Amino acid sequence: MSNQKTIPGSLNAPHVDAFPTPPFEHQKQPFPGLASKMKPVPDHGEKTYKGSDRLKGRKALITGGDSGIGRAVAIAFAREGAQVAINYLPDEEPDAKEVMDLLWSEGLKVVAIPGDIRDEKFCQQLVKEAEEKLGGLDLLVNNAGRQQFCDSIKDLTTEAFDATFKTNVYAMFWITKAALEFIPRGGSIINTSSVQAFLPSDNLLDYSQTKASIVAFTKGLAKQLAPEGIRVNSVAPGPYWTALQVCGGQPQEKVEKFGEQAPLKRPGQPAEIAAMYVTLASQESSYASGQVWCSDGGTGTL
Ligand code: NAD
Ligand code: MG
Repeated sequence: MSNQKTIPGSLNAPHVDAFPTPPFEHQKQPFPGLASKMKPVPDHGEKTYKGSDRLKGRKALITGGDSGIGRAVAIAFAREGAQVAINYLPDEEPDAKEVMDLLWSEGLKVVAIPGDIRDEKFCQQLVKEAEEKLGGLDLLVNNAGRQQFCDSIKDLTTEAFDATFKTNVYAMFWITKAALEFIPRGGSIINTSSVQAFLPSDNLLDYSQTKASIVAFTKGLAKQLAPEGIRVNSVAPGPYWTALQVCGGQPQEKVEKFGEQAPLKRPGQPAEIAAMYVTLASQESSYASGQVWCSDGGTGTL
């Protein structure tokens, strides 16, 4: 059935078959995990993403920009001409340094503002510092996330539930609220939700609720901010090969088979989703707001 003929990758990306497939090696890391220690190391588009001035002059804050989807978005935004501030946890400095060094070596502007977004004061300070260092703010990507699997509600502690909601829901609310002091007409806010918002797994009860919250927040806020000319959208990834999954996001046996259930029979690599964020950020999508765009390897569910 398979057609042996292939077309080459496009200007901005390699071919659909150019990415790793399961089985993957057994690998476990402590939270929050490092992309640089994963086997194989995720592809964030370091060698492939080519920009074409789609975000020239824009100023973006990206949470979780050290690794995974956030790093791929930071690379793409910077190469599209945006100035970028990334936030991450202090423990992730080695990953952050990798992406900063890469973008600096290309003469691109990227600044690092590490800190824990479960703290409201820090969220306010983060936005202020990003605005000061970039000389403005018109793009916000709320992408940081906490996912720790737990098989039974009986074992799901209040502390874990609280940490997941603080990271995924409260921080998005605090950061967005603070950023709206600065984001002008034409600005764009993009929140990373998940297919888990619509098809929750039995072992991600707290996480999937937060992802559903992000969808509702996105749709409601889009209506609220339309009169101000600010668009709010969400990207809902399916299974992506990132540190989140190997530091407690999934049980080990699922990590080894990660992505197997997707019709494309493999997980996505962060490089394969960054273009959605670029498109939503760009003025080319000036009529798209309140939307949830999915990229999950072919289920067609959303
Ligand atoms: P990742 O681990 O590379 O990125 C998540 C980032 O969140 C971390 O790098 C970290 O910097 C940040 N973070 C977590 N807790 C934080 C805290 N308290 N303070 C500051 N930063 C904190 O993994 P990823 O998969 O790229 O995750 C990015 C987003 O994508 C998350 O919102 C995640 O829920 C979402 N997502 C991922 C998948 C997937 O399969 N990987 C699927 C659907 C949605
Ligand atoms: Mg990280």
